[in-house]
Amino acid sequence: MAKLNPHEMFVQQLEEAAPHISAEPEYLEILKQPKEVLEITIPLRLDDGSVKVLKAWRSHHNNALGPYKGGVRFHPHVNRDEVAALSSWMTIKCATADLPYGGGKGGVSVNAKELTMTELERLSRGYALGISRFVGTDIDIPAPDVYTNPQVMSWFVDTHEKIHGRSEPSVYTGKPVAVGGSLGRGDATSRGGMYVLRETLRELGLLGKPLTAAVQGYGNVGSYAHKLGDLVGLNFVAACDSRGGAYSAKGISYEEVSKLKRETGSIKGMKGTDGVTNEELLELEVDVLVPAALEGVINAENAKNIKAKVVLELANGPVTPEAAAILEDKGILVVPDVLANAGGVTVSCFEWIQGRTGDFWTEEEVHQKLDKKLTKAFQEIWKIKKEKNITFRQAAYVRAVDRITLAMRFRGIWP
Ligand code: NAD
Repeated sequence: MAKLNPHEMFVQQLEEAAPHISAEPEYLEILKQPKEVLEITIPLRLDDGSVKVLKAWRSHHNNALGPYKGGVRFHPHVNRDEVAALSSWMTIKCATADLPYGGGKGGVSVNAKELTMTELERLSRGYALGISRFVGTDIDIPAPDVYTNPQVMSWFVDTHEKIHGRSEPSVYTGKPVAVGGSLGRGDATSRGGMYVLRETLRELGLLGKPLTAAVQGYGNVGSYAHKLGDLVGLNFVAACDSRGGAYSAKGISYEEVSKLKRETGSIKGMKGTDGVTNEELLELEVDVLVPAALEGVINAENAKNIKAKVVLELANGPVTPEAAAILEDKGILVVPDVLANAGGVTVSCFEWIQGRTGDFWTEEEVHQKLDKKLTKAFQEIWKIKKEKNITFRQAAYVRAVDRITLAMRFRGIWP
């Protein structure tokens, strides 16, 4: 079977939910494509004086519910289709979490790991310059994603403000607290994932039981998932990043893994653990599997070997539609990305509000508001899932698309 690209994956997910969605078919047709995609070329001056020419994009998928919102990814595999698909997922995700946003996404096709800090700064500023006419507090609000972080957001916002000659902190979120960021944004995606997992485990009668877990990807999302596993009693027995990983049946400590990763840039070779490849980690016998790297990692080839009871999609699109059907048949519950990882954009929304009002909240307030928002989303989606006897993802799409298309219907199709 030919491998679906992320855009085709999104369209298939939408079509699978379509029979349960009350909207007219023309609205679903509109949602299958991004509204507009900006493609730019960034000439990047390297430290040795040479110039590398890079391609980059920013996709606006749909803004019926509010300004476009979504991260920026620096990765060699980034292409137009991937950025467009990720922006579509953002439209669904923002509506799933009931945020006043549509979906956007951006990316640069680059191996950021090969760049020095000064090159990374020039690249970040080049990207922010290239998209400056396409973004704004009430237009499109980018945030961090794979290989971008609060430092990159600082360069983005600084460049944007210098171009426009005014302060506009809420045009980017995921900034450091010192630059107008929100407390609680760093771990928000994983924390939100744990709140959603807590409710899921409660429904499955597994909350409070000793549970093992494995995480693929050890960046912002994966490492915080490991750190916050205690919130729902997870014992992580394995973790990996792009270079490989570590497994121990007794469990691996967050402190030790993150220390090793900080010191060596890798998790491989941790004392007292066995090596595990990226592929092997996914097939471990654990209760909860947490893909937190890239899309399409659980696919038609390996889905039959997955042994977890629950797959918590903290990455975007880690389970392909073919794999999702196989997992469903095996009785494995997939907690869909559009809900599982919505904590990041939810706290980004909190940061946007705080930046606009100048009223900054305590970390505890942020956690409480995040918990309330995602628990409510979970309960509404779980109810739809049970009532309609459909998958968790289909139920999330039903809730989100009904909300988006209601706004589209009121707005009308114009011109
Ligand atoms: P990151 O750049 O901080 O970390 C990415 C991690 O993935 C790194 O540890 C890297 O080594 C690992 N990785 C890369 N290629 C891999 C491979 N082939 N196999 C295994 N590991 C690999 O990125 P992040 O922000 O943690 O994002 C991870 C995922 O979560 C992405 O799918 C992203 O879209 C999604 N996400 C992120 C946020 C956020 O707030 N940062 C929000 C929602 C969803």
